[in-house]
Amino acid sequence: MTDDAIKLRSVSRQYGSGGGAVTALDQVSLGFPKGTFTAVMGPSGSGKSTLLQCAAGLDRPTSGSVTVGGTELTGLSETKLTLLRRDRIGFVFQAFNLLPSLTAEQNVALPLRLAGRRPSRARVREVLHQVGLDERAGHRPSEMSGGQQQRVALARALITRPEVLFGDEPTGALDSQTSREVLALLRGMVDQEEQTIIMVTHDPVAAAYADRVVFLVDGRVNGELIEASAEEIAARMTKLEAVPC
Ligand code: ADP
Repeated sequence: MTDDAIKLRSVSRQYGSGGGAVTALDQVSLGFPKGTFTAVMGPSGSGKSTLLQCAAGLDRPTSGSVTVGGTELTGLSETKLTLLRRDRIGFVFQAFNLLPSLTAEQNVALPLRLAGRRPSRARVREVLHQVGLDERAGHRPSEMSGGQQQRVALARALITRPEVLFGDEPTGALDSQTSREVLALLRGMVDQEEQTIIMVTHDPVAAAYADRVVFLVDGRVNGELIEASAEEIAARMTKLEAVPC
């Protein structure tokens, strides 16, 4: 039996009601085993962001259940959900969302400070080392390249040792060479530290770094590919996007 870091059981999410209701997710059941890297792909509007938000406890499903490491999110109060996200989940987005006035080191330490904990300098240096930024600890975002800024964002997401790291187009703002460096870092975290990663992307090259690619169409799982090449993933996407609405 696989040990899932996150499990979705029959998750549906509707927006609005009556005639104008939109079903963004329709009875999605998915497990994300610990220590694996999953990419989520699908045409625009297929429910990728909604899936990520429900899985990460940022949004509540209309029905169904989400468990994070065995903790059922349904029914948790907002406060408990906030604490769970803060302590057990990491996020990286397309926009790096760094605070411009803070150095790399201060940005990385921020989640611990916000949690009222005193960040240990050694731990901050450790995560900066993990993302290859030992030399940049004292630099502000404006003094760094896009790839370096995203690596700071990654270090900030990792400082709390999250059970699951979510990426929403984490390489969307990077050139292809820099993207590859960030993706190789993510891959290394899965292989060496057994980090669990779930990443939404529209880029088949990025998705090829994952162990598994899950495809969504109209809010439903429309199959998956295991250890697929960028070419295989691109071919599947072309097929999905050709389906008439
Ligand atoms: P994707 O990330 O694959 O582009 P989304 O999860 O953003 O898809 O959206 C899935 C569907 O839900 C789309 O039809 C979208 O228009 C709709 N949707 C998403 N967010 C909202 C919202 N806040 N209110 C109403 N409809 C929404």
